[in-house]
Amino acid sequence: MLRSAWVRSRNGARETPAVAIALVTILTLSACTGGREPVDLILTGGPIAIVDESFSIAETIVIRDGRVLAVGDARLANDFDAATTVDLAGRLVVPGFNDTHTHIRGRARRHIDLAGVESIAGIQSLIRDKVRELGEGEWITGYGWSEDELVEGRRPLRPDLDEAAPRNPVVLTRAGGHSAVANSLALELAGIDRSTPQPEGGVIEHDESGAPNGVIRERQGMVSRLVPDATPAELHETHVQMLRDQLALGITSLIQAGESPRGFGRWQTIYDEFGSELPRATVQIRWVGTDRLADFGRITGDGDDRLRVGAIKVLVDGGFTGPAAYTIEPYKDRGDYRGMLNLPESELRSLIREANALGWQLGFHAIGDAAIQLTVDAFVDALNENPRADHRHYLNHFTVPPPVETLDLMAEYGIAIAQQPNFTYTLEGRYAANLDGARLAHNNPLRTPMEHGIFMALGSDILPIDPLVGLYAAVTRKGMSGEVYGLDEALTIEEAIRGYTANAAWLTFEEGSKGTLEPGMLADLVVLSENLLTLDPDDIMNVEVDMTIVGGRILFERRNDSR
Ligand SMILES: [Zn+2]
Repeated sequence: MLRSAWVRSRNGARETPAVAIALVTILTLSACTGGREPVDLILTGGPIAIVDESFSIAETIVIRDGRVLAVGDARLANDFDAATTVDLAGRLVVPGFNDTHTHIRGRARRHIDLAGVESIAGIQSLIRDKVRELGEGEWITGYGWSEDELVEGRRPLRPDLDEAAPRNPVVLTRAGGHSAVANSLALELAGIDRSTPQPEGGVIEHDESGAPNGVIRERQGMVSRLVPDATPAELHETHVQMLRDQLALGITSLIQAGESPRGFGRWQTIYDEFGSELPRATVQIRWVGTDRLADFGRITGDGDDRLRVGAIKVLVDGGFTGPAAYTIEPYKDRGDYRGMLNLPESELRSLIREANALGWQLGFHAIGDAAIQLTVDAFVDALNENPRADHRHYLNHFTVPPPVETLDLMAEYGIAIAQQPNFTYTLEGRYAANLDGARLAHNNPLRTPMEHGIFMALGSDILPIDPLVGLYAAVTRKGMSGEVYGLDEALTIEEAIRGYTANAAWLTFEEGSKGTLEPGMLADLVVLSENLLTLDPDDIMNVEVDMTIVGGRILFERRNDSR
């Protein structure tokens, strides 16, 4: 059982800190008959975290034909004749990061990236720039604002957008994607005014006068459905670029958390042309019914080591940015509001039965404890009806800890978690506003599920895309304010790295080919500017990715102009 990777670190108390250099047995695949063996690439002179079962540290790694040929001590380098040799000078090498929950997409010209914008004034100035670029009347869209990052300490509202763009319809989606704010023109075009009834499963917010304040929760499609499609060329180009951009973050593999079968076709086109220059990708497919999936003609695991089909994705509930996560107890200070399911329970149960029987892996979005409990129960019922030896079903997210009975079922039935430790950091404000007590302290639990023997891999859900934020939050359990949430949920840095590498590969049935730097594995690795294993955890987010290697090829190298 691969789950043992987590269980072992529990039973073996804390693994010995990896400062001491453990030498890994050298495995050469061909005998040297005099002279030095030619290889493609050697990295030597730094701690190299193999992320094997015992978290061994080597000093040299030898790469040939896209795979790890050997790992060992400093002298190992002398046995080979490398086309390229990298002197690590003490920098740390880890297996390439694998972001198990991301959303990569092509962007329209009308789109504004709002991640990291620090004020409503900043948002307004980006909107004004876009108006100048596109001209009056054109739709303007954006993604990634968060009131927690804005100096005004509040959300942008309709009047803020009107001020910047009185004659362009504007709709800006909040980070997390569960709500959006629209300006007056956009609302008018969508036919939304003070008398519009509340949509099922969503909320149109109002100001004190009873007029819409611009914010729509969970049903922002009421407005965004009007936005004209981008041209295919526009989307293709920016999609490829966004994939390339992942390399600078040390990401060598990712799981796209949901595409239509047709969307998968776009990925296929991109990977047919550029696959060897991009991170490896697994694409989750949205549930579109048995017939349309039959037309798609593929199933989990189809593809190759560059692009493959992942699990079926269904959004069981919403999130806390809405907020619409479905919880057992009411939210803090919101009457009896408990969020909601995105689809009727009977429909959820029947599609889970169908997809499981068809042989798909399932990776469902479930954030609230009620959604988690229900999804696990439905997975278990389906598995009882159609047992599967190695299904690897998992939950995408796991924010509010469910009852212990649910944890027990997950361990018993091998239901895993694709967890986002960075949520504790980025979504701190949302959790503090909506959760209390143990639900707040144990938000996005890490050690509790692990100690139950539940398999867990880590990813970002683009909040933000950056494994170092995930590692930082996993180890410190700190929110953006610096406050610590449930330190007993923290992982060691070794466990966190494993969650972002070896365990992540398990989620796509690829633990035999990637995720560690053992001989024979794909040579996907990252050189970091500092040794994470000995660094003060508070400094983790300052670490730089110096080099990213996929399949033995250096695909990213940080420019070092500042030194
Ligand atoms: Zn997501």
